[in-house]
Amino acid sequence: MSTNREFDCIVIGAGIQGSFTAYQLAKRNKKTLLLEQFVLPHTRGSSHGQTRIIRKAYDQDFYVRMMEECYELWAQLEKEAGVKLYRQTGLLIMGPEKSESFQTIKNTLQRNKVPTVVLNRDNFSQHIPNVNLAEGDGAVVDVTAGVLYADRALKTAQVQFQKLGGVIRDKEKVTDIKPGPVVKVSTSAGVYTAKSVVITAGPWASQLLQHTGLELPLEVVKINVCYWKEKVPGTYDVKRRFPCFLLTEGEESSQNIYGLPSNEYPGLMKVCYHDGSKGDPDQRDLQTDRSDIDILQRTIARCFPGLLPKPAVVESCLYTLTPDRHFVLDHHPAYSNIVIGAGFSGHGFKFGPIIGKILCELSLGEVPSYDLSPFQIKRFQGKTKSAL
Ligand SMILES: Cc1cc2nc3c(=O)[nH]c(=O)nc-3n(C[C@H](O)[C@H](O)[C@H](O)COP(=O)(O)OP(=O)(O)OC[C@H]3O[C@@H](n4cnc5c(N)ncnc54)[C@H](O)[C@@H]3O)c2cc1C
Repeated sequence: MSTNREFDCIVIGAGIQGSFTAYQLAKRNKKTLLLEQFVLPHTRGSSHGQTRIIRKAYDQDFYVRMMEECYELWAQLEKEAGVKLYRQTGLLIMGPEKSESFQTIKNTLQRNKVPTVVLNRDNFSQHIPNVNLAEGDGAVVDVTAGVLYADRALKTAQVQFQKLGGVIRDKEKVTDIKPGPVVKVSTSAGVYTAKSVVITAGPWASQLLQHTGLELPLEVVKINVCYWKEKVPGTYDVKRRFPCFLLTEGEESSQNIYGLPSNEYPGLMKVCYHDGSKGDPDQRDLQTDRSDIDILQRTIARCFPGLLPKPAVVESCLYTLTPDRHFVLDHHPAYSNIVIGAGFSGHGFKFGPIIGKILCELSLGEVPSYDLSPFQIKRFQGKTKSAL
């Protein structure tokens, strides 16, 4: 008989990736514990906020292929829980027509037969009013894209996990991990054991991995989540079918700029820069650099004449970046029963259901459903430190 401190699997971190992993494990009848350091829900990590973009528009075929199944898993969850998590809006991608970044996304969409609409200077404003397409810019719409209701999605994954018998303990920070055939996990409230452990600690991954003697090249950056006021309320509203958008790197910025139609705050549109400044997740708001906001202001003045080019509301969220911006989905190099899901590099939310499935497969010792070579730890050779 197992006690209430013995589990088949312990998942550390109840963000979107940990919550979906726990849910998948419970679906496979594994006795699973999901541990979270803060009282749920919270706004300290990477998965909070009401919206995220879901899209197939990527540079690499492997992400497009993962998203094929992922859309199905999101729809299954909506059906199972009876909640709406996704709203199709399309994603408008704009960027210098001849640039590599714009062409790569466009070609990948077309090669993978994702439904798209290519817009040109003559028909652009008829389809997308109140947006200026810059001279020399191209535009293509990923029709399958849209908005995910993020807070609701996170809550739904956790509720479904609990309905399957899963246990969530929040306000319980993991303070130590002792690897072994049975892993011992100490928290601020006690000690648990499990046959396997999954670490999905978001910006705190490096801190937790220290207990296992592994150092990965992860960098935490704070993103200023900016909301911009519409001059005429409703101009860019989701109800008017305004799409999500992505501006590939261009004259004003070396990184992408992305935005979502006004939705969660009526009259305000969310537009963010896909980079921020390095910081410590436990002292997030010590970082006050606003150079990203200067870039956004210039872009908004140029492209979105219906917005006031000053952010009305600025919130914070953290990215955990890997050097190549691809995820870490792998076994711990020294302990096969410790699995790591980390470094989601500011684009992991949409993949939540499929990440959960993959991390569950890894923790059960199964062959994963996807080729995980882009996500393996060994690609950091020379940049990882192992004290083992
Ligand atoms: C501004 C912004 C916009 C984004 N936009 C998009 C988008 O449009 N589309 C998209 O797909 N993705 C997007 N992302 C990225 C996406 O949100 C993240 O990749 C994803 O949320 C990462 O989830 P996570 O579970 O890895 O991390 P987190 O959500 O941070 O979860 C980790 C959890 O682990 C807990 N934890 C850490 N240490 C411990 C410990 N010692 N003990 C117990 N618990 C612990 C933390 O408290 C936290 O709750 C965006 C991110 C940001 C910040």
